[in-house]
Amino acid sequence: MTKQETHNEHSLNSHIMESEFSTLLSSIGDGVIITDEQLQIAAFNRMAEELFGKSAADVLGTAVQDLLILHDDQDAELSFDFATVTDQLKSVELNGQVFLLHIGKRSVPDALAALNAESVDDRPFWIPVTILASPIINEDTNTLQGVVFTIRDVSREYEVNRMKSEFVSIVSHQLRTPLSAIKWFLETLIENKQNDPVSERQQDYLEQAFQSNERMISLINDLLNVSRLEAGKIRNEREVVEISGIVASVVKEVSTFAHANNVAIECSFASESLPAVFVDPGKVRQVIQNLISNGVKYSNGKSTLRIDAEVQEEQQRIVFSIADQGIGITPEDQARLFEPFFRANNAIATQAEGSGLGLYICKMLLEMNEGTIWMESEIGSGTTFYFSLPLSQ
Ligand code: ADP
Repeated sequence: MTKQETHNEHSLNSHIMESEFSTLLSSIGDGVIITDEQLQIAAFNRMAEELFGKSAADVLGTAVQDLLILHDDQDAELSFDFATVTDQLKSVELNGQVFLLHIGKRSVPDALAALNAESVDDRPFWIPVTILASPIINEDTNTLQGVVFTIRDVSREYEVNRMKSEFVSIVSHQLRTPLSAIKWFLETLIENKQNDPVSERQQDYLEQAFQSNERMISLINDLLNVSRLEAGKIRNEREVVEISGIVASVVKEVSTFAHANNVAIECSFASESLPAVFVDPGKVRQVIQNLISNGVKYSNGKSTLRIDAEVQEEQQRIVFSIADQGIGITPEDQARLFEPFFRANNAIATQAEGSGLGLYICKMLLEMNEGTIWMESEIGSGTTFYFSLPLSQ
């Protein structure tokens, strides 16, 4: 074979490879964008054209940053963390409520319907997506050669999720009315205002029915809370808040329950005031209420629950801790603690009742207020929950 023939063969092979590559790329069901190391777009597959409503010819050679216009479900702008991919050579994934700006016509009418767009016209609209950016690394020099962005349209999942939340919300709402009626009738019977003769056993049954009904109401309220929070329907109104007062009032509210469980509550800052925080007071109260009652609930006998606070001037935050001497949580369970409906086996054994929604709700409420939550625990010796809040400037 002559040199020329080798060359021809080589370019024929690379031509075949190139055309195979582009067929392959265009048949991938997700949007794929490949850039060079400067983040200039070098390839843009068919699905990407559909997702962005732009043709490859329009975007090749332009900066990918100009194309990835994102926002979350609260309409806040999201920025993509390009630096982690380009400087640290690590993959970055964005999922959850991420929306991508789409401009132009779209050929999947289902997705339009899912997003309640009125017609297939040329107006821009937003598509729920997940985005994964992976660096292409030159193995010899360990430097960045380019980045592959994989963008998946999750309109269907988004719609199913929205329907699920709506279903939960409607069902919970519908159940509240009859449960309130049952509560009212049971209360009337228990208080026995009519002075009808009721045996001791009947009285006991009535009280048990009342307690079960109360638990059902609290479960329904948790479900309603979760579906509203997930749908972003709960308003968060932040203000300058003096938080030690909130803690004191929750401690007072929980004291009867704590006493009944043989748990003493000690608060290290009971008589001093703490620096003010910038949060929605109702939301933070709900978090404190939940963590203190959990501490009491899972204390398992005579013990002390300690509440402390530490101001971190540098970070402009305050960290609260709620430490019990209770049943504890195994390391495997700790990893799943903030999932909805999760309840550890040792908790179910001590406290049959519980929705497993409390901590999930706490986490969401804290995130809305720039707060974080974490915990430490040792099985059999106790658990400490921590949460941090931003100080007001
Ligand atoms: P619930 O208390 O209704 O089960 P939560 O969401 O408040 O729901 O808590 C989820 C799970 O986390 C509990 O079921 C329990 O397994 C564990 N947990 C929460 N707080 C504590 C605690 N202070 N000590 C031990 N386990 C806890």
